[in-house]
This record gives sequence, C-alpha cells and structure tokens, in this order.
Amino acid sequence: MDQSERYYQYLERLTREMVSPEQIRVETVYEDLRELCKMLRVSKGVTAFYSSLSHERRGQGDVYIPYDNGSETDKALTIRSDLEGVLVGQCTVYHAKGDEPWTEDELIRIDTIQRMMLNFVSRDRMKMMIRKATLYDDAGFSNIRLFTHTVEKIGNEQCLKYFCAARIDLKHFSLINQQLGRDVCNKVMKEYIRQLEEATGEGGIVSRLGGDNFVMLFRKNHLDQVVKLLEGSPVHFGEMNDGRVMISARAGILVIPDDYYYHDFGDLMDRIINAYNASKGGGRGDIVFSNEKMLEQKEQAMRIKQIFPVALQNDEILVFYQPKISVSTKSIVGAEALSRWYNNGKLVMPNAFIPVLEQSMDICKLDFYVLDHVCRDIRRWLDEGKPVVRISVNLSRRHLIDLDLQDHILSIVDNYRIPHHLIEIELTETTSDVEFKDLKRIVTGLQEAGIYTSVDDFGVGYSSLNLIREIPWNILKVDRNFLPSNGDNAQDRFNVMFRHVVKMAKEMGLICVAEGVETREQVEILRKNGCDIAQGFYYDKPLPVREFEKRLEQNTYPDKD
Ligand code: C2E
Ligand code: MG
Ligand code: MG
Repeated sequence: MDQSERYYQYLERLTREMVSPEQIRVETVYEDLRELCKMLRVSKGVTAFYSSLSHERRGQGDVYIPYDNGSETDKALTIRSDLEGVLVGQCTVYHAKGDEPWTEDELIRIDTIQRMMLNFVSRDRMKMMIRKATLYDDAGFSNIRLFTHTVEKIGNEQCLKYFCAARIDLKHFSLINQQLGRDVCNKVMKEYIRQLEEATGEGGIVSRLGGDNFVMLFRKNHLDQVVKLLEGSPVHFGEMNDGRVMISARAGILVIPDDYYYHDFGDLMDRIINAYNASKGGGRGDIVFSNEKMLEQKEQAMRIKQIFPVALQNDEILVFYQPKISVSTKSIVGAEALSRWYNNGKLVMPNAFIPVLEQSMDICKLDFYVLDHVCRDIRRWLDEGKPVVRISVNLSRRHLIDLDLQDHILSIVDNYRIPHHLIEIELTETTSDVEFKDLKRIVTGLQEAGIYTSVDDFGVGYSSLNLIREIPWNILKVDRNFLPSNGDNAQDRFNVMFRHVVKMAKEMGLICVAEGVETREQVEILRKNGCDIAQGFYYDKPLPVREFEKRLEQNTYPDKD
C-alpha cells in the first residue's frame, strides 16, 4: 500500500471515529493521529483549548499532545478557531530541525488534519460546556435538570426502591450569611453539601433548587448517615480552617417503598415536598418522613381545590350561626357566621377545607360568599320584621393585600342595604410588620365606615400587645385555649392572665368575648372577671339558619342557669 493510500485509510478511520454519536474512543483517535504525524513528518502536535480570550492570553487552558518524537524543532504551523471569544482552540504542528521542508502535498494534508482536530476538540468542549451550563448552576452545584435526569434514569430501571429522596433547606442560612459574609457563607454551603454528597452513596445526587434549597437522592443504607448530617454537622471555614459553624437542615424525606412503581417524576417530588412542607409548618420536627396519610391528605386537598368553584356555584356551602350570649342577661347579643360544606350529603367541617383554600386566594372567594349570604339573611330578617343581631364574618389574612378590601366589603353590605353596625369582621393576629400595617389600615377604614371589627383567637399564636394598642378594634375574642377551665384555684396562671386581659380590654373600651365556653364553671369565671359575652357549646353549637332564627325568637337560655 503506498503512502497516499495509507494516509486516506487513517483519515477515513479518524473521521468515522470523530463523528461517531457514541462515546469517542480517545485512544483510537490518538493512535491514528500518531500514525498521521509520523507519515507527514510532524515531530510534535499540540492542541490547546481555552474557555476565553483572557485565558488564552494567560495560557490557562487544556493542552493535548497526542504525538511528540522529542526532536528539536525549527518551524511551527498554527491554526486557531475562536467562537465568540468563549471557545478558543489552537492546533500547532512542529517541523523537526534538519529535516527536509514539507512538500506542498504534505502541507495540504497537515492543514486538513489540523482543521479536523480543532473541529473535534471544539465540539467535544462545547458538549462539556453545554452540559455545565444546563446541568449545573453558577456556583457549580448540579441543578434540578440533572436531578430529574438522574431520578428518571434510575426510575426507568425501576431501581428507585434502593433509594430515599429528600427536599431540604439549610437552617438559619440568612443569619450565617449576615454574620460571616457572602464569601464565607458560600464556602460553608459548598462544604456542607460536599459532606452530604459524600453521604449519598453510589448513584446518589444533591442538587440545588436555588438559594439554600436542595433536593437529594441517596441510597437507603446511607439514610442514618444523611440524617445525622441533616441534624447538624460542624463545617470549618477561614484561612486556617479555624472557624467553625454548625449547619443543620429542615427536610422532607421519602423512603421509597419497595413496591414503588416509578411512572412520573412529579409524583415523587410531590411526596417529598409534602413532607418538607410539614417540616416547615412546625409541630413535627425539622425532619419529616413522608407517609401514605400525607399522600391521602394531599389528594384530598387537590380534590377540594378542584370541586370548590362548583360548590360555590351550587350553593353547597351553608352558613351556620353560633350565638354569642350576654352572660348577665342570658340573651343573644350577636352570632358568628361559620361555613359548613354539604358535599354528597356529607357535612364537611371547616378544618377540612379552610386550610386548603387558604393556600390560594380561593379563601377570599369563600369569605365574600359567606358575607353575601349573611347580608342576604339579615335583609330577610329585617324585611320580615324578625329580631336581628350583629353577625360576625371571618376574613382570612389573605385579604390583607387587597387594597380595595373595604370597598369590596361595603359594596356587598350596601347592596343589601344593611345598617353597618350589624356587620362585624373577625380578623386574626398577624406575624409580620408588613401585615401589621395592612391590618391597621383595614381595621381603621372599616371602623370609619361603622363596621365592627374583632381580633379573633386572641391569646394563642403570636398575640402582641401592640396589636391591641395600635389598632382600633371594637371587640377582643379570647381564644378557648386561653380560657381557664378550673375556676377554683385563684392562683392558677390562666385565671390571672384571663382576669387581667379582660380588665385591660375593658378599660381600653373593647368588648370582650370568650370563645369555646363549654361548662357552667367557665361561665362563672367569665361573670366573676367581668367578661360580658360568651360563645360556645355550653349555650349552642353553630346552628343552621332556621334554627338560629328560632333561637333569636326565644332569645333566652333559661335552662342554662
Ligand atoms: P373561629 O373563627 O375561631 O371559630 C370558632 C370555632 O370554634 C368554630 O369552629 C366553632 O364551631 C368552634 N367552637 C365554638 N364553640 C366551641 C366550644 O365550646 N368548644 C369547642 N371545642 N369548639 C367550639 P369551626 O366552625 O369548625 O371553624 C373553625 C375555624 O375555621 C374558625 O375558627 C375559623 O377560623 C375558620 N372558619 C370557619 N368558617 C370560615 C369562613 O367562612 N371563612 C374563614 N376565613 N374562616 C372560617
Ligand atoms: Mg372566628
Ligand atoms: Mg376564634
């Protein structure tokens, strides 16, 4: 075989190898290049790759030398490619000193090989860069795409049963950020995630969703190790690694069941997000394991969201009224409107659907619906000459961002020509400053319009004295958990606090209502402490409208004393 034939043979093999869609066999490529270099009397071939022009200037790049016969060189031929300044490739071949100059033919062939090499390397690098840009974030953490890809790969082989999946966020990270500064904080996060990655086992992955939020997949037999890190692990930082901070995480973990059939990435994510939300909601600790009950609840919640608009349209939601009784006169002085949902002949209580509706603005639709029904009932009572008392309606905190809330309320109330003093709006306390301002704006506005306002559930959660000092409420509704149950013991902390809260409220001109009054003893406590109004099962449960109307007609509770 003559030289030319051999040249074409290697060239062909090289081309085939380089365009192959499968993994390129670098060894074969190098072997061909070595043969071609020898044939074309190239003493050394160098391919370099830089990821920017400045890297090229500084000589910081990846360099490949497939062939070098060690001769002294006297001439070099370089070709260069530059893709928008981000992908810079160079291919240089050297001529051995004292050797015959390259012929025209050889120069053409050398040029062809050089171009092929650049093409090949650029394509390979481009693939790596695309992978980096699409599957990793700027800080170098793998992202949700790589996580999805990993889960799907293992899932499609139905091997997820060997794994656990988790959604986590690092605790107090913004505080650490403030205290240690951004750079240190980034290093600390990297180190902590590295520890977690190390704990995941073969095939595991830790990917960043954004900020300090991550998702993980790890081998079941590594669960203890991972949980230990999530509970808290010391991370060193500083020049000499002399600083130390304890990092822990909140997490929702799914131990993937042995019979889990993988069909959909979303399903897996839903389960870990549910568990994670439960860990955030408090009460169940920082690390929550997903279970079947949670899934059922989630499905139930989805069902509620779906059927709620239809329920509103079909008037499936009924308004019940729970009387508020004057402790001294034993007569009804008001009532609270509470929702009840009749779904397929079954009564659904608010705790089953209100929290779901509160996840979106659907709760506002419900509240306006209830207000509308209340106004409709009051209008009818007024028209029929029946006794009428002030009715309170619960408004979710979700309304606070509605700048036109007052107009919305008044438009419904005025549409039925209801005297404003017959309507009371119950709002619960807030947790943030922003909400506090909104609350103040809304209560003040309603007050000016002559609508009554009350603080609901006072005494639990985040009650602050500011809430009653700064906001002009009419009524304070003391939560039933705050109510003393044992009236005899004057030393009881509950008694002391209850007595002083009632006294304070009254001196500030607020009406005090005790919620959840269940026993005669409690009524006595109210009377002794000057709390005028009671709402609770002792007198009545929330009643359907017709029954409530009957109670209003009788309007006394003789058997209760
Ligand atoms: P809430 O506003 O604090 O209403 C009082 C709750 O205490 C009612 O529960 C009532 O039935 C219950 N209750 C009254 N007396 C007693 C008692 O003596 N003992 C006990 N154990 N409980 C008593 P309900 O009707 O289940 O409502 C629960 C919560 O759901 C309400 O608490 C309120 O926050 C919310 N809610 C109900 N309807 C609506 C609505 O239309 N809109 C909004 N935003 N929330 C609503
Ligand atoms: Mg209420
Ligand atoms: Mg309440």
